[in-house]
Amino acid sequence: MPRENIRKVMKFLSLSGDRQLRLLGGEPTLHPEFIEIVEEALANGFFVHVFTNGIMKKEIADFLRKIPDNSISMLCNVSPQATDSDRKIEMRNYALHRLGKIIQVGMTLTSPQFDYRYLIDYIKKYELRKRIRIGIAQPIVGKENEFLKPSEYREAGKAIVQMVKACIKEDILVGFDCGLTLCMFNEEEIGILMKCSEGFVVRCSPILDIGQELDIWHCFPLSEVLISKVEYFSNRNDAVKFYNDLVKPYRALGCMPECLRCNYLLRGQCSGGCLAHAMNSLNRLPPHYAKAEFETH
Ligand code: SF4
Ligand code: SF4
Repeated sequence: MPRENIRKVMKFLSLSGDRQLRLLGGEPTLHPEFIEIVEEALANGFFVHVFTNGIMKKEIADFLRKIPDNSISMLCNVSPQATDSDRKIEMRNYALHRLGKIIQVGMTLTSPQFDYRYLIDYIKKYELRKRIRIGIAQPIVGKENEFLKPSEYREAGKAIVQMVKACIKEDILVGFDCGLTLCMFNEEEIGILMKCSEGFVVRCSPILDIGQELDIWHCFPLSEVLISKVEYFSNRNDAVKFYNDLVKPYRALGCMPECLRCNYLLRGQCSGGCLAHAMNSLNRLPPHYAKAEFETH
């Protein structure tokens, strides 16, 4: 992403009263001007949050270490299936060692059977933040990718509860990304999640992503559909409202056929999982661009 466009994003965030710049990729630390971008954001009063795989050059980890803890945080996604080379593992271990408490680890589930103990080991070994972020891998509308199928959600739900119970014994709280559903858990399990995790929420609302050329999307799984441009919005709230209105018809579908008759969806207690499933279930995908509707904005 050119520096000039990153400046435009910072301006957009400032107009929205948002003082957090969230950098993600790919791997954002690979940007040739990563250090300068972070320095500029900090100088402009932004809190910087970096989504990383932790595989970064030593000089980047050393640079990040010098930033005060109250100005930066990082989410390091480490997949148990990763087949990283020894060199990459060494780079990640150095970054974890240097960055310690500003790092929270996370994982994205592509299967209902998953390993998590290695994350507890990382937290203990490198004295990382005592939090683990879990996301469910969602389909990318209009593309092929690996994701957790809704038919596997119940089984994944049971495994998540086991993980939450193991983590709380180590004083580690698990937190959740969007896209969980109510029927992944029974009542007792929801009680356990409420008491032993960061909190159980079934949420799906725009997590706006901005691309290199200032394209904007509802969220990453919807990055191939309903694309718009940052310049069409005066601030973030306008964009969120626009996307909330735009996706409303898809919300009624839910992520699986049972959702259509589900009282939890009708009563608004469950969002019906990720919209990407609903969109993929249709004969025709939503349009690539969502522009015409608000050109006069
Ligand atoms: S709306 Fe769908 S995902 Fe949510 S609880 Fe009902 S069946 Fe499950
Ligand atoms: S559509 Fe909703 S649940 Fe799916 S990734 Fe986007 S915000 Fe999350």
